[in-house]
Amino acid sequence: MRQLLTADHVLTMAPGCPVIKDGAVLIEDGRIEAVGPRADVEPRAAGAAHRALRDHLVMPGLINAHCHSGLLRGTAEGLQVWDWLDTYINPMHRVLQPSEAEAASWLCYAESVLSGTTTVVDMWRFMDGSARAAEGIGNRLVMVPYVGAHPDYNYFDTLDDNEALLERWHGRQAGRIRAWVGLEHLFYTDAAGQRRAAELAQRFGTGLCTHIAEAEQEVQAMQDRHGCRPVQALERLGLLEPRTLLAHCVWLDDEDIRVLARNGAAVSHNPVSNMKLASGAARATDLLAAGIAVGLGTDGEKENNNFDMFEEMKGASLLAKLSRLDATALDAWDALRMATIGGARAIGWDDQIGSLEVGKRADLIAVRTDTPRMTPLFGAGLWMNLHHNLVHAVRGSDVALTMVDGQVLVEDGVLQTADLRAIIAEARRAAPPLFARRAAYLAGQAPG
Ligand SMILES: [Zn+2]
Repeated sequence: MRQLLTADHVLTMAPGCPVIKDGAVLIEDGRIEAVGPRADVEPRAAGAAHRALRDHLVMPGLINAHCHSGLLRGTAEGLQVWDWLDTYINPMHRVLQPSEAEAASWLCYAESVLSGTTTVVDMWRFMDGSARAAEGIGNRLVMVPYVGAHPDYNYFDTLDDNEALLERWHGRQAGRIRAWVGLEHLFYTDAAGQRRAAELAQRFGTGLCTHIAEAEQEVQAMQDRHGCRPVQALERLGLLEPRTLLAHCVWLDDEDIRVLARNGAAVSHNPVSNMKLASGAARATDLLAAGIAVGLGTDGEKENNNFDMFEEMKGASLLAKLSRLDATALDAWDALRMATIGGARAIGWDDQIGSLEVGKRADLIAVRTDTPRMTPLFGAGLWMNLHHNLVHAVRGSDVALTMVDGQVLVEDGVLQTADLRAIIAEARRAAPPLFARRAAYLAGQAPG
């Protein structure tokens, strides 16, 4: 099936980030066949279904390089990251059931596509349910199970679960669903587990993701256990590779950054989570300057508290400016790149997604421009503000159309591929029993 999209502005995020005024995208079988000025593309579009997006800007779908499905939104507040894990998060993992995990993924992916995210890197549990959610909703998905391979963390998914997930799901849905190897944290995995994780990623030719250098106290704890800093521990263990994606990387010194660059490892920068959990300000501009692939992630519903990647771009921009006391730090193009082509590079998928270029998958969104937040709008010239508006003014709810592989997932701001009310109803049903079991577990742990 051929489709022609025309819009007032097309932002391709191809090298040089050209903005095409009165632009068009021609799609055939889920792939971009042509992109450029409407006058050039339209003559090639004979027989294509035409979607005229007046008062819209078309751009690549956003890539959320690190998130977690979940049901704890707004109920895990006011603690710094390590206390927060002990108090709220790990007890939840002890009692989580597969049906609840699946309900959380349907909710997460629905929210994601409604706010313009087309690719979700989700670290979660019992991820067969997550894969079913992505099949239904139609988003692109990188599944990263939360694996614990250590006696103290045996209530997480296991490496056996991870291997089964790789066998069942990696490359399904015409390649739209990928599975990776996930390690919650080095501390949640013993030496044998670390070796097997590296071996699994190697054997399946797939990525490996873990959280690292998120909290300051982690640096000392890693020093005590491994005799070196967190990133350097990963290198010694053979876990730093071009297909390694590291969430957070807040507490890095100059040598850590050189180690990451030397190994070609990628980073997910999660500024809103880092601010909310008082983790610190990651050195995003230094990572970019070192040539490291940096994507942008919202982190979970419990540490953000939404999956709005437009908000995340703004957060990245503001945090860089504030932490460096430099109003030029991390400009709007840097933020847009991290959320699109930079994120694609960070997850090793930039050959197919992240920019609107001929031959790439048709993962794109249309943002309304007839809104107060987008007014005034200049796509070129002396007052050009289109990139600034996208990063600092627009919100996810301004997204009207979301497409993955040329399939419309959201039209006029309405989810087309699944019943949003049913998804919300299921999440509402699932949350209270989960909370009750967690409370019962914690009561059983209480002294006396
Ligand atoms: Zn995380």
